[in-house]
Amino acid sequence: MPEELHDAAKRHINYVRISLTDRCNYRCVFCMPKDGIPFVPHADILRYDQLLRLAAIFATMGICHCKVTGGEPFCRKDAVEFIEALSSLPGVQDVTLTTNGSLVEPHLERLARCGVRSITFSLPSLRPQTYDRITRSGFTPKDILRVMDKARSLGLMLKTNTVPLIGFNEADIIPLARYALERGHTARFIELMPVGSGKACSAVPQSTIHAMLEAAFGTLIPQTHKMGNGPAKVYGIVGYPGHVGFIAAMTDKFCATCNRVRLTSRGFFKTCLYHDSGVDMKKAMDAGADDAQLAELVRQAIRTKPRSHQFSFDAASGAVKHSGATMNAIGG
Ligand code: SAM
Ligand code: SF4
Repeated sequence: MPEELHDAAKRHINYVRISLTDRCNYRCVFCMPKDGIPFVPHADILRYDQLLRLAAIFATMGICHCKVTGGEPFCRKDAVEFIEALSSLPGVQDVTLTTNGSLVEPHLERLARCGVRSITFSLPSLRPQTYDRITRSGFTPKDILRVMDKARSLGLMLKTNTVPLIGFNEADIIPLARYALERGHTARFIELMPVGSGKACSAVPQSTIHAMLEAAFGTLIPQTHKMGNGPAKVYGIVGYPGHVGFIAAMTDKFCATCNRVRLTSRGFFKTCLYHDSGVDMKKAMDAGADDAQLAELVRQAIRTKPRSHQFSFDAASGAVKHSGATMNAIGG
């Protein structure tokens, strides 16, 4: 039986977001500056064998739900081989991915075959101009929708993530929801967080989106059964096979039920998106720590997991409090 890890606030920690790289072929306005950021040198990134060693240790401790993220995970060479190996580790219950969708198409069959259950696609807009204004990628929504169709035809569950931004994609909220509702997948709306380039953008709050969706489609019915391992609040709507969801870290803080930890591409085991608390697992591995010592570092870090984030947009002064990290480096 795997161990069960609880932190000081009695939260059961069973979900890890594993970031393969801080690199990305997109430059989303809410995530990264147009000219990019200095990337972590290859030598400072955890090797795949190190990532797998840590994931195997996490699984023995009951941290058995894994989300592979980045940057863009498929910017890293051999990401699919890593995901296959991760999926076959004893104790790993499920592996899901989050991607911008631009580089994943050639790998979909292998991902479906190795047991990946669900893929979350970042989809900021269905309109080509707005999509490019937000992602600064050169790709179009059509490119990504084609990949999503292929993923669906292979039996993968689909979710979309959209960060609604004032002055960019408010007009996409209803079409994106309709797209998901009619096709049976879940469109999730993520409230902007003041991280990295997100500090300079303005969020559409969850309450506004909720009201817009109810006006367009009818009552949002909370789903009582668990859908996914994360903090999303998911709703169904009579007459539609799909769902809509919200991740509203700012106006509907979910820290009290947070079950997650993060492993950054440089091997930092991060216990809260906001705080810098955690432990440098790469340093410990490089210093020769054995598996029992690494497991003990994980236990210690979880014991001191912060109770809540302190993100705030200071509306009056425009000043913003944040930890200084960027989302492509943290992994979302
Ligand atoms: N590149 C992949 C993608 O876009 O899905 C994975 C990494 S990305 C950092 C993970 C998630 O973080 C995405 O869903 C993205 O929308 C979200 N994200 C990035 N910056 C954000 C911000 N400032 N506030 C809220 N969510 C953000
Ligand atoms: Fe890249 Fe994802 Fe950040 Fe967009 S949100 S810049 S796709 S890491």
